[in-house]
Amino acid sequence: MAVELTFYSVMVLIGEITIIVLLSLLVFAFFLVAVTALSIRKGRLYFPRLLKSGFYMLEGVVRGLTRLFGISEKDLITFFIRLQNSMNTTTFEKVPVEKRAIFLPQCLRSSRCPADLTPEGLVCKQCGQCQTGEAIARLREMGYRVFIVPGSSFIQRMVQKYGPEAMIGVGCIIEVKDGLEMCDRQGIPAIGIVTQKDGCVETLVDWDEVCSVARRGLPETAPKPAQEPPEVDHPAV
Ligand code: SF4
Repeated sequence: MAVELTFYSVMVLIGEITIIVLLSLLVFAFFLVAVTALSIRKGRLYFPRLLKSGFYMLEGVVRGLTRLFGISEKDLITFFIRLQNSMNTTTFEKVPVEKRAIFLPQCLRSSRCPADLTPEGLVCKQCGQCQTGEAIARLREMGYRVFIVPGSSFIQRMVQKYGPEAMIGVGCIIEVKDGLEMCDRQGIPAIGIVTQKDGCVETLVDWDEVCSVARRGLPETAPKPAQEPPEVDHPAV
């Protein structure tokens, strides 16, 4: 009888602890969602470290609860990307440019792109049919290793091969989120830039933003983002 009572007591205790833990997690999830909603509304990041660990721990619950606060899935992911970018910036800036890499999605190319597919990704021929070629030249001039990504496993392969210590990734919102999470797991400070137009063909990105992010932490002498062509004084006829 004494043994049964002890067993019963232990089971009750386990049940009570489980309920307390679950309730605490639910309260924490509500707190995370409230802070996220406030951060989005105010355009500021409150408790970024706590938010980041909380998202990783309770992503599914947070996703469900955010709907109650009128936050769409897209807004939540955009916020998560902003959060990651902001937390990675200082470490990113300390990495010398020769140890950084940029990964561009192939969908930025023209549909008539003549680039060759190689083990190092798609190699741009600077044909001038899209802005990617010109941007790649500028980024390489800064000292970056630049890749056009042909498929999903490519980035991981290049990370293993070249071991970049900081990365910039361009892509659609989901690709950027997944890429940032992958870099986070591997301890690589990364900045994600979301394309302006979704889709799989001829998407768009703000190249000035890409170059501006790429210049972070570089000396002032590094090539600047897109500049207006100099005005030419036409001689009077
Ligand atoms: S500039 Fe480069 S990426 Fe763009 S279409 Fe030409 S070869 Fe392809």
